Amino acid sequence: MTGHLTTVAGVAVDTRHWIGGERVASAATFTDHSPIDGGVLGEIARGTAAEAHAAVAAAKAAFPGWAATPRAERARLLHAVADGVERRLEDLAVVETADNGALLRSHRRGVMPRVAHNFRFFADWLLTLDHEDFDTRGHTNHVSWDPAGPCVLITPWNAPLMLATWKIAPALAAGNTVVLKPAEWTPMTASLLADIAAEAGLPAGVLNVVQGLGPEIGDALTSHPDVRRISFTGSVPTARHIAASAAANLTPLSLELGGKSPLLVFADADLDLAVELAVEQYDNAGQVCLAATRLLVEESVAEEFTRRFVERAGQLKQGDPRELPTDLGPNIHERQLEKIDGFVQRAIGAGARAVIGGERLAGRFYAPTLLTDVAQDSEIVQEEVFGPVLTLQTFRDEAEAVRLANDTRFGLAATLATGSRERADRVTGQLVAGTVWVNCFFVRDLQAPFGGSRHSGVGREGGTWSFDFYCDVKNTVTAPKGWQEN
Ligand code: NAD
Repeated sequence: MTGHLTTVAGVAVDTRHWIGGERVASAATFTDHSPIDGGVLGEIARGTAAEAHAAVAAAKAAFPGWAATPRAERARLLHAVADGVERRLEDLAVVETADNGALLRSHRRGVMPRVAHNFRFFADWLLTLDHEDFDTRGHTNHVSWDPAGPCVLITPWNAPLMLATWKIAPALAAGNTVVLKPAEWTPMTASLLADIAAEAGLPAGVLNVVQGLGPEIGDALTSHPDVRRISFTGSVPTARHIAASAAANLTPLSLELGGKSPLLVFADADLDLAVELAVEQYDNAGQVCLAATRLLVEESVAEEFTRRFVERAGQLKQGDPRELPTDLGPNIHERQLEKIDGFVQRAIGAGARAVIGGERLAGRFYAPTLLTDVAQDSEIVQEEVFGPVLTLQTFRDEAEAVRLANDTRFGLAATLATGSRERADRVTGQLVAGTVWVNCFFVRDLQAPFGGSRHSGVGREGGTWSFDFYCDVKNTVTAPKGWQEN
């Protein structure tokens, strides 16, 4: 660490804010640790309200120029950012793994290529974003998507750059300017993205990054009257706080929140496939909002399913996320581990049985856990754990499966394993969920709407839905009369 630069996994990262095209230091800093070994990664700018306001002012100043930039030029610049992401893919992958502990092979092969794709997709979509004019009694209706203004984007640590760029790319494509506040647990790749954007030629102030602790810097961003959109991914309590803070200005909000999604396994399912889908829920050490953490299995196959699940889960390799064979890395921080273990021990205290796991391991690891004998109204079935902890309940028929599936306050996703198309159609129609996967999991196309119902969120992102959110959609009605030439 020298001055404002730190080295993470061999990559130099600037630990200051990025505001108006310049690096800006804070008087104070906070320490960022790696979940892999607890080592210090850097001292990060600890943003203040004044710095947050400076970032919004920079975004406001840059807005008219960016909004007026022709679509084709905006698209070209976003493709240039994607090129930069691809050029620095290895740097981004190793830094992200050091910072959040997720698998390096996933960052290399899946996540970072998707980050580049996020920019390319919304750049291309922008160029096709048109609505056909239509006629009302001789009057023409013309729908346009006008950029809204400065947007505040607040993101979590479980998939830092991936989730940030889901928001940044459509916000910028639409002609808005952005202030990104990454999670304090994972500030590093956002800083690298600022470098990449600058190198790509994005004008100063179009993308700003402020670092800092959410409770300290959040309100200064979310209650700012010049902010036109707030897009947040994170927990329900923080969302409530942000919604209250944004209420003074009625700032439109997009909220992508937690979940307690079900995996429904019917007796007619390919059981090996169902087991694979279930074991996948331990990915990212269970720190996935979409994870189907409630396994609901038809009674007649529950014993066989459990036997195969235990065998398959036993093959998972926990360890250093930088090593190729590793399936599960560490959990993000000590507090998260305590939270996970608290949930599990309270469940066991209330009568649950740990079929596998149920305990902390050395370091920042939690044993992949499956709990049975859990009551539907218990905390472990109702609350998001955000760790490698699944529950298993059985059902007797389709009606009971649907009732259990829908009986939480969340509605983010649901996964079905069934051999019957008729059943899949019937059950899907009854589930409360933003996304339903049938005999698959985590397949995500940016054209599709993404978001949650109930406490899992407000609004949808993806394709047109993103532009609807990040724009002031306007309808212009023009009369056939009143023209000079008439
Ligand atoms: P969190 O709510 O603690 O933090 C998220 C972000 O909010 C961070 O950047 C944090 O600094 C910021 N923040 C905290 N307090 C704030 C305040 N008062 N004002 C403004 N910002 C504030 O969530 P987390 O622990 O980082 O993330 C885990 C949660 O995110 C889980 O509930 C998970 O399900 C959810 N999540 C949802 C999705 C989705 O797409 N639905 C995706 C990933 C994660």
